[in-house]
Amino acid sequence: MGGEIWALCESKNGRVSERSLEVVGAALSLAGLKRGAKCSAVVFSDVEAAHRCGMGRAYVLHGATGEADSRGRLLAEAIEEYKPDIVLASAALEGRGVCSVAAAILGTGMSADCIDLAIGNAGELISTRPALGSSVIAGIVCPVKRPQITTIRPGSFEPVRVTEVETEVVEFSGTRTFVGAEVIGRREINKDGPDLARSRIIIAGGMGLASAAAFDRIRELARVLHAGVAASRAAVNAGYATYDMQVGLSGKSVRPDVYIALGISGAAQHIVGIRQAKKVIAVNTDSKAPIFNYADVGIVAGWQEYTGELMKLVQEGTRKG
Ligand SMILES: Cc1cc2nc3c(=O)[nH]c(=O)nc-3n(C[C@H](O)[C@H](O)[C@H](O)COP(=O)(O)OP(=O)(O)OC[C@H]3O[C@@H](n4cnc5c(N)ncnc54)[C@H](O)[C@@H]3O)c2cc1C
Repeated sequence: MGGEIWALCESKNGRVSERSLEVVGAALSLAGLKRGAKCSAVVFSDVEAAHRCGMGRAYVLHGATGEADSRGRLLAEAIEEYKPDIVLASAALEGRGVCSVAAAILGTGMSADCIDLAIGNAGELISTRPALGSSVIAGIVCPVKRPQITTIRPGSFEPVRVTEVETEVVEFSGTRTFVGAEVIGRREINKDGPDLARSRIIIAGGMGLASAAAFDRIRELARVLHAGVAASRAAVNAGYATYDMQVGLSGKSVRPDVYIALGISGAAQHIVGIRQAKKVIAVNTDSKAPIFNYADVGIVAGWQEYTGELMKLVQEGTRKG
């Protein structure tokens, strides 16, 4: 089974997370580029989820008692046993932690938070990520050590739609016990509105909104449009919005059908998070704002005016049924 491409999947109660299905999608598209490559999923403990990962084979790793530190050790053991060529994981908290521990144990490299993947002439993985504040896009290779480990920024790949796939499950139990950090509780944040990763419409606010109360106003509009609410880093730093809403280089990447940017200037670090949006509508009072160079539709206006008109149109549409 050596030489495989592994997609490390997070799971909960028998279900693979949406961002892990993006990792599965990335692994399958890489396999299409790499001659003879086979893909498998890897999950921790959850046999039920292994059957729902959309892959022909899934490894279920048993024996990790805690979080990233013990899971990373177990993953390293499984890698030593099965020798995959490439290991992909989500660049969310679990993937980052588990892969960096495994990479350190195995003495191989890890490319973190990548937005694109390709295969080079010698069959090597080329992982692409923005660097130096997005001023350059770097292609990273791990030429000698194996496996090549890469974490993928959520929102960068299309998630696989899991249909009925017959999955061969290979169970693996670690032999080295290690009790690391344990989770003693979890608290969910951003329960308000749809998850940004899944939102077909996203309304995002920047410093032009000038207050947290203004974000409450765009939340009302978002509710009517079934949209997610996002923010620029400057708006998060100012305390108008929370970090889980931040889009961009140091926040989330999103791929909605429509991204409405209100009072956002369009810094490169913000744009990098909306590269996969199908249409961008920008509303800004400054006709020279850089966001207008990127947007599909640009409106020179105050955000209040624009959202007021949009709300009226939606309400009229709802009344007419
Ligand atoms: C390493 C690094 C990582 C970063 N990561 C991120 C990131 O993940 N995400 C991110 O967003 N940024 C990130 N940044 C910051 C980024 O460079 C910008 O500073 C930030 O995006 C600016 O946010 P903004 O557009 O809301 O604010 P500003 O640049 O201040 O723009 C505000 C805009 O609002 C307009 N405006 C004012 N009043 C109104 C009104 N009434 N109606 C409509 N428009 C109005 C103004 O004309 C202006 O264009 C990062 C920077 C660095 C160095």
